[in-house]
Amino acid sequence: EPIIEFKEVAKSYQRGDRIFYALRHVNLTIHEGEMVVILGPSGAGKSTLLNLLGGMDTATEGSIIFEGVDITKYNDNQLTQYRAKNVGVVFQFYNLIPTLTAYENVALMKEIEENTLDPKKCMEAVGLGEHFHQFPAQMSGGEQQRTSIARALAKNPKLLLCDEPTGALDTETGRGVLELLQKMSSESRHTVIMVTHNSSFADIANKVIRVKNGTVESITINQKPINAN
Ligand code: ADP
Ligand code: ADP
Repeated sequence: EPIIEFKEVAKSYQRGDRIFYALRHVNLTIHEGEMVVILGPSGAGKSTLLNLLGGMDTATEGSIIFEGVDITKYNDNQLTQYRAKNVGVVFQFYNLIPTLTAYENVALMKEIEENTLDPKKCMEAVGLGEHFHQFPAQMSGGEQQRTSIARALAKNPKLLLCDEPTGALDTETGRGVLELLQKMSSESRHTVIMVTHNSSFADIANKVIRVKNGTVESITINQKPINAN
């Protein structure tokens, strides 16, 4: 089952008296439960693609079909609902609230969204059962990133979007985070879409989308993705 499809999608900006395309002619299909890696150099259009997938930004051309519905037809209100219901986001620098404990950061989702999962279970799922009462500053980078993954997981999102989630971590800790994301796609059927400039992560994905100069250069499918660990 495709969860999301792009048909001739473009995102352009006005630059002075010219139109600049951050992305154009994007056609792709992502299936439920896939682990997708979006690869490409800085400025290629990766974040733009991730933002369009998550309804954080709007296309200027083309259609984006989520579960059969064209979300480019949505108004602001509908798009906000789309994000709330379907999209969890993990950032490079975690974006945790420093004055709240790890548990409180994850439980915050309950205040904001409906139908959230038990924050305790989410923290246990990412291996943070012992860290409920710690503040972000008292945790390692890897633990903070796992807290932010638990927070995204608490929404029980269909799409889990990750922007350079290992960018601030050392190689080994980063592998642990990748392994966790891989597990979430294979065991929990979350569709995980990760942006990175690190091409060594390509082999952990089911599908690799290579972006360059505002276009999709290639889409490859890995029959046997290697385990992140
Ligand atoms: P607006 O004032 O219409 O909201 P923005 O604040 O998005 O426009 O952008 C102001 C200017 O900065 C524009 O010319 C835009 O091209 C440029 N700009 C904004 N964000 C970026 C970015 N991430 N990369 C490159 N240029 C950008
Ligand atoms: P990447 O994530 O691969 O580094 P981006 O998607 O952030 O690339 O950006 C792709 C291109 O679009 C870049 O040239 C960037 O400067 C431009 N861009 C991104 N956001 C804006 C914006 N708000 N306004 C104008 N240009 C932008």
